[in-house]
Amino acid sequence: MIASIEAEARATASYTGRSRFSPAVMSALAKVPRHLFVPHERQDEAYVNAPLSIGWGQTISEPYIVALMTDLLELDARSNVLEIGCGSGYQVAVLSLLARQVYSVEVVEELADAAREKLQRLGYPNVEVITGDGYHGCPEHAPFDGIIVTAAAPKVPPPLLDQLKPGGRMVIPVGLPFRDQELKLLTKGEDGIIDSRSVLPVAFVPFRHSE
Ligand code: SAH
Repeated sequence: MIASIEAEARATASYTGRSRFSPAVMSALAKVPRHLFVPHERQDEAYVNAPLSIGWGQTISEPYIVALMTDLLELDARSNVLEIGCGSGYQVAVLSLLARQVYSVEVVEELADAAREKLQRLGYPNVEVITGDGYHGCPEHAPFDGIIVTAAAPKVPPPLLDQLKPGGRMVIPVGLPFRDQELKLLTKGEDGIIDSRSVLPVAFVPFRHSE
């Protein structure tokens, strides 16, 4: 799996501007046991570099995408991080090895409950899973050094921009359900001004939100 991520990083470097990811990110990917986050019947595919169904119409992302999004956040051991779309809990487990504290919001109650129980059992003490609509972010634990959204929204939810620290970074797929999506990297300057750049065309499950 690690070798395929490295090969895909090289192959996509002209889009992403990164031909390799940081050793800390690759080491976190190597440490988290992905087979414990995929369904029993898909165990033999756990270390293939591909997305897999986790039920409720949702997927655990392709490991290369997990590595890329994590690398783009440029976290360190002091970082306070927010994920929207906890799903299986795999991405948050990877983040937890690189940050001080990670909060992850999941709208499907069954997925949130399963991920919370699993992360506790496996011993990820700096992770908290919250059930709810991530459109509103997590104001009680803001501001965040990094925000990662793992479902595609038509527009960046404004509350998430508000909860990003000056100097912070957000990675989010923006676009329509299942098409014309771009992974965006947003950075907030010390003056509060947001800079946005497209990193890669992607295909994520839709962000669920009703006004
Ligand atoms: N990061 C996950 C990938 C999950 S797929 C992993 O590592 O497994 C995206 C997830 O986003 C799904 O579980 C979906 O239920 C969730 N989601 C979609 N819209 C959401 C919203 N508005 N708030 C919180 N979670 C949402």
